[in-house]
Amino acid sequence: MLNPTEPVDASQIWRGPLSPLAPGGISLPRIGIAGIAIESSTFSPHVSGDEAFTERRGEELMAYYGFLNPGDELREAADWVPLVQARSLPGGAVDPATYARLKAEILDGIRVQGPFDAFWFDIHGAMSVVGMEDAEGDLGAAVRQELGADTFVSTSMDLHGNVSRELLDVSDLITCYRMAPHEDAWNTKQRAVHNMLERLRGEHGSNIDARRPYKAWLQVPVLLPGEKTSTRIEPARTLYAAVPEVEAMDGVIDAAIWVGYAWADEPRCQAAVVVTGDDSRAVKEGAERLARAYWDARDEFVFVADALPLAESLDAALAEGAPRPYVVSDSGDNPTAGGAGDVSWTLGELLTRPEFADGSSTVVHASIFDAEAVAQCVSAGVGGTVSLHVGAQVDAGPSGPVALEGTVFSITEGDKDAGTQSVVKAGGVYAIITERRKPFHHIHDFTMLSIDPHAMDVVCVKIGYLEPELYELAAGWKLGLTPGGVDQDLLRLGHKNLAPGVFPFAGVSAAEPELAAVVSRVQAGKVEEH
Ligand SMILES: [Zn+2]
Repeated sequence: MLNPTEPVDASQIWRGPLSPLAPGGISLPRIGIAGIAIESSTFSPHVSGDEAFTERRGEELMAYYGFLNPGDELREAADWVPLVQARSLPGGAVDPATYARLKAEILDGIRVQGPFDAFWFDIHGAMSVVGMEDAEGDLGAAVRQELGADTFVSTSMDLHGNVSRELLDVSDLITCYRMAPHEDAWNTKQRAVHNMLERLRGEHGSNIDARRPYKAWLQVPVLLPGEKTSTRIEPARTLYAAVPEVEAMDGVIDAAIWVGYAWADEPRCQAAVVVTGDDSRAVKEGAERLARAYWDARDEFVFVADALPLAESLDAALAEGAPRPYVVSDSGDNPTAGGAGDVSWTLGELLTRPEFADGSSTVVHASIFDAEAVAQCVSAGVGGTVSLHVGAQVDAGPSGPVALEGTVFSITEGDKDAGTQSVVKAGGVYAIITERRKPFHHIHDFTMLSIDPHAMDVVCVKIGYLEPELYELAAGWKLGLTPGGVDQDLLRLGHKNLAPGVFPFAGVSAAEPELAAVVSRVQAGKVEEH
């Protein structure tokens, strides 16, 4: 067994029914929905433009939220006004024109379809836009200005997002996932909506300001990769187990810990804690307790698997008696964290490894996107011979395009993410090349290409920690420390703009932070500190 701790059962953490409408509560509040969700690496040369985003509007957006179907309690408790929500796979920083277009659409929507009693701001929190340092703070401030002071805002995020003071100040409630991998993503969105509706329906008086809870916020000067902060293993498992305990305190509505996003070079990138509630002392105490525990555990975070340079990972995978299949994460170019997805350095290393070159061992590499190489495979046809230079169009990595000579093993058309996909066999190497970027998280992603990953000696995937099906697949696993835009070796990336004192960038001798939470709420359109 690779990992001694079982995942928490996400089905246990949905919110129950709403409280009955209280006297003075808003019976059918008008609630707008909008947001932009992307995790974007400023260390990747990839730029996320219009084509990167899936945009949902109106009923299509409502249908996307499984807990807001007609007849569902939360759906019927409000007059929903879905504007637009744009989400993308992780990638490089967002094209400023794409950001400006989406921002303008959200603001126009508020102007035309408002006013709203409340607004659900559905974001990720790690969006970098070329030329900006706090994109969600910018978007949130513009949204708040357009909404006006009388709208209640609930913000839901990924725990890999960042919470700047600007973003905090525009939100009345703000929360994030409590699990990584994010098995509770939908629970979290439902919780953000549920808590918002409870505030609107409760007996708080007619003034919207009376419905606003206190928010205790503080940043924790620690910035770690997701692959060290899985909540399936310690210390994150215990740190996150304390979140519902704090939430259960009298006078507390919600509690959240953000790990932050390590592959953007921005001052806001660090861990954060927010606790919200009606008891200003309880939220402060709860937030400081969670933050102190996080800081105190900073030295204990380790990679979810043995993290080794690629050559050593392959030594382990190819050792006599190593279990099969053996999974090696090509982690530095993980497209689901923001890697370009076309760094071909790792493929080059596999092709020159003698055990694979002579065909005595097999490895599938997933994947590199390269539309031109796929087109060459299509024109050669299955069984045809190709001589390609693969990848490195977006991120050259240390190798540039890698020479790949072999036979076309399969061609598969029509994947909604990847487009056309080809597999080229060279010795024992099965190299997957896709027309467009695609993460490989599921067994079906391989079998649809006529590759059975269970039958391979080694499965090498551009991923960090393993998604559930790959986790099941792996009889053995190493996290390969490979180069790319989401290099797990953070200190070699060269951050320049982080806040001073952030661990581990400031070294183990970093000064002890004060870790005092700021308690605030908005009243009469102004931020009041308590
Ligand atoms: Zn995340």
